Amino acid sequence: MIAPIYKGISVNSPAYIGRFAPSPSGPLHFGSLIAALGSYLRAKQQQGKWLVRIEDIDPPREVAGASSDILATLDAYGLHWDDTELYQSQRLAVYQHHIDQLLAQDLAYYCQCTRKQIQQMGGVYNSQCGQLSTTLVKGAIRIRNTAQIASFNDLVMGDLRVIHSFAAEDFIIKRSDGLYAYQLAVVLDDAFQKITEVVRGCDLLETSCRQISMNNILDLISPQWLHLPLACTEPGFKLSKQNYANAIDIKRPQASINAALGFLGQQTVDIDDVDVMLKQAGEQFNIAHIPQVSEILIEQ
Ligand code: GLU
Repeated sequence: MIAPIYKGISVNSPAYIGRFAPSPSGPLHFGSLIAALGSYLRAKQQQGKWLVRIEDIDPPREVAGASSDILATLDAYGLHWDDTELYQSQRLAVYQHHIDQLLAQDLAYYCQCTRKQIQQMGGVYNSQCGQLSTTLVKGAIRIRNTAQIASFNDLVMGDLRVIHSFAAEDFIIKRSDGLYAYQLAVVLDDAFQKITEVVRGCDLLETSCRQISMNNILDLISPQWLHLPLACTEPGFKLSKQNYANAIDIKRPQASINAALGFLGQQTVDIDDVDVMLKQAGEQFNIAHIPQVSEILIEQ
């Protein structure tokens, strides 16, 4: 029997496809290892695929050599990905094509408001350029947010609701400097790679609503969401490449993997071979043990 197709995907529950989507703004550190390992183990436990996407659409924030460094570290850690890695920098024409379509359908518009003006609006954009009688033809491009999704279910955090004004905002999909915004690229690429579940850090929890709104507007299926706690050095300060988190040691993967497993509430594994170690960690992986908090303090 041929399974019915809904929006291009078979209704007979599609096979699990997860992903890790680092931005190449520095080497992998303990915070990004948690996202890489969590998404990898979840995909393995679901007998699914695990893809890697390099989110290199922000050249000013990119560090030379970081992409290859990240990939080499994943490999050394036994985090081998399926298929060839995808580079967002090779997808710019696709992003522009969708921007052109959204503009043509009046689902997006140009905006020239400054940061200062938006602050004066209370920090959330009030859609004023979208209501002009004469259309602007340069500046940033905003989505006309007709979906305004404000709630969603997360497999770890449960049912979540974001502030309505944030959910309703016409957010930027192409910046005034010509760079494509994360919200547009992430949604188009998750759909392109047929991602069924997004596993990532809690710093991106709220943006899931925007991504569901984008999916609705573009008539795409939204993936399931699973957000992992963030490693923070002090409350509100996540480990990040921007605040110079130490790179993880490429020569001692077992110690960092076990530290990340412990952080995620999982049993550690005392095996030397990383591939065997990850196989066992995947079999033991239990999302019910992931701490239901958005941050955990660690010492760096
Ligand atoms: N590229 C983003 C980052 O490195 C992650 C995006 C995502 O997982 O959706 O923070």
